[in-house]
Amino acid sequence: MTRRSTTNPVRLRRAILAWYEQGHRSLPWRGSRDPYAVLVSEVMLQQTQASRVAVRYPPFMTRFPDLAALASASEADVLAEWSGLGYNRRALALRDAAVAVQASGWPSDLAGLQRLPGVGPYTARAIGSLAFGWRVGVVDTNVRRWLVRRLGLEPGSGAAGGGALQRLADDLANAGHAAPEDGAAWTHASMELGAVICRARLPACDSCPIAAGCPARGSAGRVPVPRQGSFRGSRRAYRGGVMRALAAAPEYALRIDATPAPTPSVLAPEALDGRLEPRLMQEALEGLERDGLAHLDGSLLRLGPRPARGSSGGPRPTIAR
Ligand code: SF4
Repeated sequence: MTRRSTTNPVRLRRAILAWYEQGHRSLPWRGSRDPYAVLVSEVMLQQTQASRVAVRYPPFMTRFPDLAALASASEADVLAEWSGLGYNRRALALRDAAVAVQASGWPSDLAGLQRLPGVGPYTARAIGSLAFGWRVGVVDTNVRRWLVRRLGLEPGSGAAGGGALQRLADDLANAGHAAPEDGAAWTHASMELGAVICRARLPACDSCPIAAGCPARGSAGRVPVPRQGSFRGSRRAYRGGVMRALAAAPEYALRIDATPAPTPSVLAPEALDGRLEPRLMQEALEGLERDGLAHLDGSLLRLGPRPARGSSGGPRPTIAR
């Protein structure tokens, strides 16, 4: 049976902040309080591992260094620069968010941030704390893991549910007499603790700054996270293969072979699990067009949404049959 811990939140917070300040990983998005830079990194990190984002973030920021650059870029250019990060609709939403902020300025509260395209409750809290220093709890997978273990919560129970953990995280973010500028440091520190010390496998309890009184010390179990289905051979793999090929193609366009299914002539074969499943390819292409990520233009598949009717000569063929 799991033991509940009664820990002083002020001491917990102080210990984690002190540990973080002694040294932490250097990641390209850390250290910047520029809301635009935080928005880009947080949208990239939504569904992509930090190690991959660390590679893709610098060139994206070089190409689109500020809100104005991203807001005025074409969808195809943004999608091409996003290539390799996956979940490509995030790129279009990020550009739309840049357009919205460019027009109206940065929102002044969480509700306003959440109204930006592609910004949900978690990302709004991350931007609020990391860019604006708001003292709000940010619960990602890493934070959730150490909270559950350190506070002795039963995984799957109501106490370890999203709402309860969010309240705990908010309490910790506000514990003691935290200065406004502490919002960013606390969010970085609490995420870092779960990423490098209270790891999913083999937590480093002997190096943990909050080991004293931890009911899971030395015997931490797995904290389940929602699992995705296999990527290889999936519709998502087909979409990813097509998007990578489009991003690398001259003028972001690929010739389409009509049989056995409409198929771009050049594809990353590893994405297709060594074979072509016509139904999955058809569904992938239809989905890309529906999501505004690619469109058919005669015998060419082009990156980005179909141009608005009237902007290039009237109706065009669609991928769907
Ligand atoms: S003592 Fe171990 S299980 Fe407890 S919070 Fe630290 S790393 Fe996690």
